[in-house]
Amino acid sequence: MNSAKPAGALVVRGIGRLLSMAPGAPAEGLRDAVVVIRDGDIEWAGARSDLPAGIGDDLPTLDAGGGLVTPGLVECHTHLVHGGSRSDEFEARAAGTPYEDIARRGGGILRTVAATRAASRAELVETAIPRIRDFLARGVTTIEVKSGYGLDLPSEMKILEAIRDLQAATPADLVPTFLGAHAIPPEAVADRGALVRSIAEEWIPAVAQAGLARFCDVFCETVAFTADEARRILQAGLEHGLRPKIHADQLTACGGAELAARMGAVSADHLDCAPAGSLAGLAAAGTVAVLLPGCMVSLGRTRFPDARPFRAAGIPVAVSTDYNPGSSVTRDLPLMGTFAMAYLGLSLADAWAAVTSSAAAAVGLGDRVGRVAPGFQGDLAIWPGDDPRGPFYTYGGAAPDVVVKRGSVVVRRAVGYPVQGPVS
Ligand SMILES: [Zn+2]
Repeated sequence: MNSAKPAGALVVRGIGRLLSMAPGAPAEGLRDAVVVIRDGDIEWAGARSDLPAGIGDDLPTLDAGGGLVTPGLVECHTHLVHGGSRSDEFEARAAGTPYEDIARRGGGILRTVAATRAASRAELVETAIPRIRDFLARGVTTIEVKSGYGLDLPSEMKILEAIRDLQAATPADLVPTFLGAHAIPPEAVADRGALVRSIAEEWIPAVAQAGLARFCDVFCETVAFTADEARRILQAGLEHGLRPKIHADQLTACGGAELAARMGAVSADHLDCAPAGSLAGLAAAGTVAVLLPGCMVSLGRTRFPDARPFRAAGIPVAVSTDYNPGSSVTRDLPLMGTFAMAYLGLSLADAWAAVTSSAAAAVGLGDRVGRVAPGFQGDLAIWPGDDPRGPFYTYGGAAPDVVVKRGSVVVRRAVGYPVQGPVS
């Protein structure tokens, strides 16, 4: 975990309700609570009446104004470092142009690849900063960020270096993931075997050696990498200390979920078409199912993934924006909580877990973020009103009044319209 962030200290009082997400804590939240943060970490959290004498008396106080306090949200799947925009493709789809036609005209992922290859590392950093600020303004304090719009070693390294630069430029914690196997670049279509070999034998060792990624991800799909190719790449990642994540079974059941289970992937993402027979394996592997309902909107689809079979199988479910410039152009993680309840079939408690504790587990940080409990980072979102349903009930632009990262206030919202950052 990055611990270069300044470590603050605070006592948060006046909490109307604390939704700590700690095991055994009341699902409706704890009334009249106090949270003590010291050296960036939570020292104590609980009901004010239980606060031991003297704890936190030496620290500055933040008044939560009777609001709802939750863990800082965890966004576990983004592609937020990229060049260019694809707003014209959104318009074209609205006018009835099929995605395949758009792709044939040079649109889709490969268009973002061209724009990202053309951008300098400094330009990538500069355009990503407002997107991160936008996430922060919505209560998100930890963000996974994937490479994957480079598709050659120098460009993938440039993106991962930009993520490292961004880490120093934002209070949010960024979790870097290598997704060199995001799509087949045009120059590799003729010899896929050579591409897979390069990724496994050259790109992954170079990325790992530079310490630029924590996870290795693969887009396993009929239009991208086969399950066999994905296995080879993820195995190389494991051998170099990069834990596996998989874009699995988004468009077709192509063996992604089974592969995730076999490789012990930390998360399997999308899973719209995961076969029922794959769920027991995912549960046994402890893999988190990451569902991405934002894609339905950008792609104009109405069939949302169903979270209920995963929960019934005992699999933790996280939701994420999947922010990217093509298929999910949103940074509104609370809105994904709304979708989780309205369309995915998650309960209120499961929807909160999906954007906090389960999302933390999906980025390998389940013991450090996503809960308000001793030993966890002092990351909080303070929401207006004390209703735990509020941030999902009021959908589109829900935002906390105050965001705390490692004990320091990093966002304080003027009451009024929520902050809306530009796309680029
Ligand atoms: Zn993705």
